[in-house]
Amino acid sequence: MDKQEFSYFRKKLKKTQKEMSELLGKSIKAIHSYEQGWRVIPVDVERQIYFLASQALRKPESQKACWKILKCTPLKKRNCPAWKFNAGQYCWFINGTICHGQPQKSWNEKIQLCKECEVFNSILQEIEAS
Ligand code: SF4
Repeated sequence: MDKQEFSYFRKKLKKTQKEMSELLGKSIKAIHSYEQGWRVIPVDVERQIYFLASQALRKPESQKACWKILKCTPLKKRNCPAWKFNAGQYCWFINGTICHGQPQKSWNEKIQLCKECEVFNSILQEIEAS
């Protein structure tokens, strides 16, 4: 996540920098630094922002499990943590998913792939339209 995305989501969530610092458990100086691009936005912050935005700005009826959208086979589902943890609406949040054949080594690798996926993009589009 870069500084523009951080500001975008903060405004979408209608939060001040102070409110964002309380929500994310970071200092207000850190929030300011993320928005100025002086500090790299940590993994835990990025994940939490996506989580909060998806919870706050999506309609419950549009939230479908990823395995339904991607039509995963029973075997693939059994081997995927999104299925095992019954988290088909939060597959992008969970490391170890196997939609690209094998788990990715890091959150950064994973979220880059998710950003090219129709499941995660449909979430982003809904947030944008909200
Ligand atoms: S690539 Fe990411 S968003 Fe797409 S189904 Fe897999 S975990 Fe979910």
